[in-house]
Amino acid sequence: MFELKEYNFAHSLDQADKLLHGDKGNLILGGLLWMRMGRKNYNTGIDLSNLSLNQIIETEDGVEIGCMTTLRQIETSRKLRKCFGNILRDSVSHIVGVQFRNSATIGGSVFPRFSFSDILTALLALETQVHLYRGGTIPLETFITMPPKRDILVKLILKKKDWKTSYQSHRMTATDFPVLSAAVSSQGNQWRICLGARPAKAILARKAAALLPGKPDKEQISLACDQVVTELSFGSNLRGTKEYRQILAKILVKRGIEAICR
Ligand SMILES: Cc1cc2nc3c(=O)[nH]c(=O)nc-3n(C[C@H](O)[C@H](O)[C@H](O)COP(=O)(O)OP(=O)(O)OC[C@H]3O[C@@H](n4cnc5c(N)ncnc54)[C@H](O)[C@@H]3O)c2cc1C
Repeated sequence: MFELKEYNFAHSLDQADKLLHGDKGNLILGGLLWMRMGRKNYNTGIDLSNLSLNQIIETEDGVEIGCMTTLRQIETSRKLRKCFGNILRDSVSHIVGVQFRNSATIGGSVFPRFSFSDILTALLALETQVHLYRGGTIPLETFITMPPKRDILVKLILKKKDWKTSYQSHRMTATDFPVLSAAVSSQGNQWRICLGARPAKAILARKAAALLPGKPDKEQISLACDQVVTELSFGSNLRGTKEYRQILAKILVKRGIEAICR
């Protein structure tokens, strides 16, 4: 278990930022579920729960998800379902259990950029933007590749478009980490295909997506699935080999595209 010397409820983002940068041993707290797996000693833990950042807000052209929003809120949100289909619900529904998802936050899930992350895979298929207190608003795909830097993830911004979406994952057991995950989205003739847990960080298969027309036939889907494996790198770990993941990638992407075309 980790240890904190002090616990501070921030009363503004400015104060949280000053505290975070005041000492290298200070850190922002999410739901503490990942942190409790470690054994580090920290100085001050900065809790953002009093800043009303646990909300999903629909704006004229998008949806904003505050960093303290729980995975369970995301799973059950009607607003998110209306705007993006079931992709976000399906990406979190296998994570441990309901009690866990009631505490795990989206800030703590996105900021560390876990290579196994289901939710990062889904968010990348939706042109998500990340709003960082110091770093400003940047595309999630840029944030994923940036070196780690101390900052506060304030909220996520998702654009409303005519999204059709699907999320697929393969796990050894229902609540295990994914062996591989795939998120597919389309709006008009534009497709996005994202693969996560390769076991590296989530990434877009742009060339594969570009092969798909608005309504692809079987041959076009098959070509796009082959391209995913040519274009992206896959690796081995205790959950599966590179070769197994390459086979899975074609199957999950095919299922994702077919679910959207149905
Ligand atoms: C046993 C277990 C199984 C899991 N299985 C899966 C799975 O199958 N798929 C999956 O996708 N995920 C899985 N996860 C990850 C989980 O979904 C959460 O992502 C994780 O628990 C972190 O969320 P948290 O709110 O608990 O963050 P915390 O543990 O509180 O924080 C994690 C890190 O994020 C930082 N942080 C938190 N909030 C912010 C913020 N707003 N700004 C800047 N930094 C911040 C913290 O400083 C810390 O370094 C699993 C986790 C555990 C413990």
